[in-house]
Parts: sequence; C-alpha cells; structure tokens
Amino acid sequence: MKTTISKKNELFDQIKTYISNPESLEMIEKAYDYAYDKHKEQKRKSGEPYFVHVLNVAYELAKLKVDPNTICAGLLHDVIEDCDVTKEEFLENFNEEIYEIVEAVTKISTLKFTDEKEYQAVNHRKILIAMAKDVRVILVKLVDRLHNMRTLNHLAPEKQKRIARETLDVYAPIAHRLGIAEIKNELEDLAFYYLDNEKYHEIAKLVESKKTERDQQIDIMMQDISIILEMHNIPFRIFGRSKHLYSINKKMITKNKRFDEILDLLAIRIVTETELNCYEILGYIHAVYRPIPGRLKDYIAMPKMNLYQSLHTTIVGPDGRIYEVQIRTEEMDEIAERGIAAHWSYKEGKKRSQKEVVNELRWLKAFEDNSDTDAKEYMNDITHDIFNANIYCLTPRGRVVDLAAGATPIDFAYRIHTEVGNQTIGALVNGVLVPLNTPLKTGDVVELKTNKNSAPSEDWLKIVKTNHARNKIKQYFQKKELEDKEELIKAGEHLLKEELKKHDLDPDEYLETKRLDKLASSLNLPHGSELLYAIGCKSMTPISVVEKITKLGKKEVDIDYIEKIAKKNSERNQMISKTGILFKGIDSMKIALSPCCSPIYGDEIVGFVSKGQGIKVHRKDCPNVLNEKRLIDVSWDSNKPDIKYETSIKILAKDRSYLLTDLVTVVAQYKANLTFVNSAINHDNLTATTNLSFMVNDLEHLDTIITNLRKVDSVLEVERAIK
Ligand code: MN
Repeated sequence: MKTTISKKNELFDQIKTYISNPESLEMIEKAYDYAYDKHKEQKRKSGEPYFVHVLNVAYELAKLKVDPNTICAGLLHDVIEDCDVTKEEFLENFNEEIYEIVEAVTKISTLKFTDEKEYQAVNHRKILIAMAKDVRVILVKLVDRLHNMRTLNHLAPEKQKRIARETLDVYAPIAHRLGIAEIKNELEDLAFYYLDNEKYHEIAKLVESKKTERDQQIDIMMQDISIILEMHNIPFRIFGRSKHLYSINKKMITKNKRFDEILDLLAIRIVTETELNCYEILGYIHAVYRPIPGRLKDYIAMPKMNLYQSLHTTIVGPDGRIYEVQIRTEEMDEIAERGIAAHWSYKEGKKRSQKEVVNELRWLKAFEDNSDTDAKEYMNDITHDIFNANIYCLTPRGRVVDLAAGATPIDFAYRIHTEVGNQTIGALVNGVLVPLNTPLKTGDVVELKTNKNSAPSEDWLKIVKTNHARNKIKQYFQKKELEDKEELIKAGEHLLKEELKKHDLDPDEYLETKRLDKLASSLNLPHGSELLYAIGCKSMTPISVVEKITKLGKKEVDIDYIEKIAKKNSERNQMISKTGILFKGIDSMKIALSPCCSPIYGDEIVGFVSKGQGIKVHRKDCPNVLNEKRLIDVSWDSNKPDIKYETSIKILAKDRSYLLTDLVTVVAQYKANLTFVNSAINHDNLTATTNLSFMVNDLEHLDTIITNLRKVDSVLEVERAIK
C-alpha cells in the first residue's frame, strides 16, 4: 500500500475497494472536483499544489474505510478556512452532515492560544471537546495531522517543534485511545524525528545495525513455530514485526534500559481464525518454549479500554533469545491496527449508528460529559486517561523522570526515592529556587535540597499531583502515628512501673502480658498495650490503675496453680474426648462442654479449669469465662466425631400469626431435632422472643439454619443464646 498518492485514480481505486454505490461515488466525485477547483491556485510551503494535501487526507480516510460523507468531508476539510466558502454556499452543494464535520475540523485548526501555560490546559481541552462531538471529526483531524506531519520538513524549525510537540501530546494519545495503532505509531515517530532529531537517528542506526541479525533470528523462529502449528492443522499467518523508534526510545527512558535490554525487539505475530485457535496456539508454543513468568497477558478475555484484543506471551527461543509473541484472530488484528475505524467500517446497505460506536468507547463519553468543568480541573480529570506521563524532567545528572501534567518538585522527589521525598526542603528548577508547589514543565532540570531531620508536611497532600507521591506521604503519616503510639505506650509503662513500686508491688509480675491484658479488660480496654497507651496519653492515671489492681487482688486466683497445670499439660500426650475436643491432660481429668454457651463443633473454644471438676469447654466469647484466668488451650480434633451437639438460639421478631410455626419449620427443614421451644410476647412493643434448642452437626449446619431463620418474615434478630 502506498503511503502518499498524487493522482485521482489512486484515491478512487482505494475508495472502490469498499464503496460501489453510484450515488455515493458521484457525491465523492463532486466533492473532489469542488475542492480541486477551490484550492487550485494555492500552493503548500513545499511548492506542491495544496490539493495534494486534501487528496491524501481523503486517501487515508478511505484506507480506514469510512463512510462516503466522511470522505467528502476529508476532501472539503480546508475549504471553509482556506477558501472562504460560506455556510450557504457549502450547503448549496453538499449535505448538512458533511458541513458539520468540516465546520468542526475548521474550528480546531483556528483555535488560538495566548501563552505556553494556557497551551497545555486550555488548548488541549478545546481540541478534545471539538473532536468529541463526532468521531468522524477525530478521524479527519487525525489523518489531516498525519499528512501535515509527513510534510513538516518545509516549515521553520520552531514551528516544526511546536506542531510535533502538539502531535505527541494530543493527537498520538487520541489515536492510541481510539486504537488506531498504525496512525499512532507513525505520528509518534514523526514527532520524535522533529523533537529530538539526534536521538531519533541514534536509535534508527542501532535498529538498522541489528536488523540483518534480527531478521535472521526471527525467520528461524517463525519457521520453527510454523512447523509446530502445521503439525496440529491450525490455520495461521505468521510474521515478524518491528517496534517503532519512538516506543523503543520511550522504553529506554521510562524503564531506564539499554537498547539491547528492550525485550520485545524480537517480536512475532500470529494471526489465526478463531478465539479457540488463539488459545490452542498459545498452548502449543508454551509446550515447546519456556514462557517468561508474569509476561502472559490475556487481552482476549480482558480487552483493553480501546477494545484491543490479543494474547501476549514472552518466550525463550532455542538460541536463548527472548521473543514477544502476539496471537490474535483476523478480526482482532483489524481492530488492533485500525481501532475504532474497524468497528465502524462503512458497509454499504448496513449502516451502524455512530452512537453505537461511541458508546463502546467509555473514555470518549467521559469527555463529553465533563465539558462544563473549568479547563484546569477538566484537564486533571482526563490527564490520567489520555495523557499518561506527559512531562519529562531531568535530574542534575540528566536522568529523565516522567511525571503527570502539573506535577511539582515534591512529585519529582518521591519519584526519585521515598527517602528523598520525605526529606525534601526545597527545590531549584533550572538553577532558580522555587516554591515546592511549582508545576514542572518538560525539560526542567530539578535539583532537590534535602535535610535528614526534615519531614513531610500534611499540606503536601494538597500540592502533589501524582498518586505515587500522595500514597508515599500518606504512608509516612500512618507510620509516624504508629511510632508516636509506641512512644506513648513506653511512657505509660514507665509511669505504671513507678506507681507499682510506690505500692510495693512487683512491676515485672504485673506488667507480664497476660496479666496486663486481664487488667485491661477489667477496665473495658481491649488489651494491655491500650491500657499503657491510655496512661501514656494521660487519659488514665497510674494511681487509678494500681487501685484497680489492689481491688482485684482479693479475687485473684492462684496463678501458680494455673502455671502448674499448664506445665503438666504440656508434658502430657494429646487426648481426644468423645465430644471431639483435643486437649493435653491426664485420663482422669474430666472434660465436658459447658451448658451455658453450649459450644458446637467448629466454634472457637477455650477450656476452663475448675479445681476438682476437670475442664469445662466454653465458647471463646462466652461472658462467663471472658475475665477468667484459669483458661487452657483446647481445640477441635480434625476428625469430627459422629455425634450431634445441642445448641440454643434466641430469636427476636415482630409478633404475628404462625410465627412460631414458621420458625420451627425452618429448623426442621434442615434436619435439626428440636429439644426445647419457648416463646414470649412483649405486649409493649408487640415483639416476640423465641428460644429454641436443637441438635446440629457443626457450626456450618447452625450457620445455615440461622441464615434461613433471618429470612423468615418479621424476624428482626437471631443470635446464639447464653444461659
Ligand atoms: Mn488540512
């Protein structure tokens, strides 16, 4: 396929590959003649007739298989701006739809921006909004820009750079979002050529120098893969593919890699018939070549936002080299190359509404919906979506740091290193000291001033633009809060120690973890460290805590006794009771499930040691043991004994007829034999409290019953009962 054309028949040959309707062709012919006539006196900077530009715009549109109206709009896209054709005159010759596209395209090219600052936010926004009105406007504007970029060499260097920058900032990302890879890649490479000519040639040279070698390697690999696929009778096309220069450069910059480290330089694409074929091919390739972990991407199951679908994997070839392989169907390939245009291909007689297509592209809708927010805010909203990392700043040593638009020296600092961010106290941008909230621009050299004893300020959260910096700052404050708490706990511990000593109490004994936890729970605090924290914060006095200890002291149980049992137990063998409790103990020691909270298999449990009465097993949250000290570890044996456990529940419900019947029915449905039923009505608020006891297999069985009881009409609350 030719890149640029100069003859009428070349355009019409391309158009006729998918448009045959005589009326459509006649209309395009008319637009062709009209544009030719209007532009015939004009020349481009290159000296070429202006019409060549228009011809090529239409040709590129035809390659995208757009509808006849859009081809006409392509031919006529410059007549309003450059030939002063009025709306009336235009509409005398062509329909409203064509006019609207041309008018929108014209509006974009006549946008003026006043200064550099406004350029980023306001101008980009205007371009986007103007284009968002109609997908076809974007397509015309993209191919218009494409041809302008191809012929940029005739302009002044300053103008070349400005247009190239705008192309990279606005048009290439849009082409990418629309999934038109062909146009996006070419726009990026052309912009790269004008923005950093030296680098462009350097990479082009590197690519060229390796080309023969690479081509050979890829050829061998493709032959090998072809043999495998032929053996399995899978339909396929296979070809090598080369990365465009801009993306190689970008990877070298953003991933800080050398040219030879860029993995996917050796890239192969396999195009097949069905989705199933794709996965089959992947399977056969992985069976022969070792895939690199973490590099398999299934964009078939999870398409990208621009609707791109493909399987990507990276494998190690027999030569030890690394190959990136893309596998996709013909349809996916078409969409990957032509993006939205592929979805929207004009098919005669079968017109797909534009709305339908636009709805598939969520991002496009997003910027239609936001058109009334102010320019800066709006830009921030879509920056992350459309322009990722669109400013590039440098460290004094020349390392490139990519940041989101609007990023500040603080964002820059956190991108360098978290520690650097945390210790930043000032910044020099291009040698000048600036406030830390100064937005950075591409090309700024940022030198940071740090101080080891300095710390982030909470105001920074309002200043930073990148999520990366925001998260790091938040992490810093979370960590600091924890550290502060630890210090207060230590202070509390010290205060309590001193107070205990005053009362002739042994601090070591009372500050022992379990003892402290118990003391805390008697003061309604979750655990010992919270108690120390409360003392440290001065929300509790050490004397009040010591008073509590002396009061508790009277009820204090013999700690030695528990320790003795625990010690004895740890020397014993594991025993299993007939109820399935696993414990360490002597044969004669009785172990039984406590009737107060009636634990069942699966509950979290503890053993309570009572002198002479053996071990009673309670649920861990049973209030009867919550503050007990004589507790030992018990657990359920992994082999559940073939018995049922009795349990009790309490149900609160609005009273109604047949309530009890309904409740009992649920219990019966789940084959739990009832052992006790009692219901009481509270006439004040017309509720009924029902107590049920029944036999269940385990906790899961009980949970199922409770879940279903909660679904019974008028039931308010269901809970385990404690006697
Ligand atoms: Mn143009």
